[in-house]
Amino acid sequence: MADVLVFVDHVDGAVRKPTLELLTLARRVGEPVAVVLGSGAAGAVGVLAGHGAVRVLTAEASEFAEFSVVPKVDALEAACGVVSPVAVLVPSSAEGKEVAARLAVRLGSGVITDAVDVEVGESGPVAVQSVFAASFTARSRVSRGVPVITVKPNSAPVEEAPAAGVVEELSVVFSAGASGTRVVSRTARESSGRPELTEAAIVVSGGRGVNGAENFAVIEALADSLGAAVGASRAAVDAGWYPHASQVGQTGKSVSPQLYIASGISGAIQHRAGMQTSKTIVAVNKDAEAPIFDLVDYGVVGDLFQVVPQLTEEIEARKG
Ligand code: FAD
Repeated sequence: MADVLVFVDHVDGAVRKPTLELLTLARRVGEPVAVVLGSGAAGAVGVLAGHGAVRVLTAEASEFAEFSVVPKVDALEAACGVVSPVAVLVPSSAEGKEVAARLAVRLGSGVITDAVDVEVGESGPVAVQSVFAASFTARSRVSRGVPVITVKPNSAPVEEAPAAGVVEELSVVFSAGASGTRVVSRTARESSGRPELTEAAIVVSGGRGVNGAENFAVIEALADSLGAAVGASRAAVDAGWYPHASQVGQTGKSVSPQLYIASGISGAIQHRAGMQTSKTIVAVNKDAEAPIFDLVDYGVVGDLFQVVPQLTEEIEARKG
């Protein structure tokens, strides 16, 4: 069976969920070979093997943390030399997309970004994308060389699939460009204790209807009852009610959770562009004509300050 390279996103060996989702997709197309780089790489092996990695290529050089992006491209290129994969799957983060694009140039092949699924095609893997504010589904195939595909978080389930996980040290010769951009400092973002917005299984968002920074407590309470991330429309963010990092939409983050709950959000096309691929969409809006109701699975016409706290209370009660 053909090998599929999976670029592992991890923090000191703790593998992030989107990588486990990539392993699920990789198993459909072939045998997953994980590439895990940087400090703590060895600590990731158990989890990767538990989710289907037949082989795990590791490299722990300090260059991966000291310099931006290029050392990782050097390593993935070296990995492609070792395994001759039928595809390279990369998480669709900002860094992942840059790594993928540079790798595709090195390999003389093509890149497909922000896929929401990967299928087996007659002439190689086919990437499924949701485009034009999710109004169309596009299926694309890289026409020459090894396809490099970045996949959005929440595009596949995490599945346990014990595999050999044979560890091999990857030998990487860094290119002249590897030291081009030095990372001069790193500051950890203050944690809200909530899941990362783009990776969360549930996102609870508030818009202009929330009407003030202090009122976002209502949205946060619902999010916390569900273990969800908090998102916001641009109107709410521009008003200074919630941080820019939480903006969902065309010029914000793209999310694709199992459940998206929008409260006090009208459903402008630019907001939809960032959440329309969510599996189940719920909206609370006092205007029955609000465009958001055109795309919801469940809609509540009502005042969010009445509906949302009741919902939170009910969820807490059922958690018992
Ligand atoms: P509104 O459109 O004002 O809607 C507020 C809604 O709240 C209304 O439907 C109202 O009925 C409802 N409401 C009010 N009070 C209550 C209440 N008490 N209970 C229940 N419902 C209530 N927007 C984004 O979100 N993300 C983007 O990334 C983004 N990028 C953009 C890029 C460009 C180039 C442009 C031009 C615009 C972009 N926008 C983006 C802005 C977008 O066009 C909308 O202006 C914005 O999404 C509106 O936010 P909203 O739905 O919160 O506000």
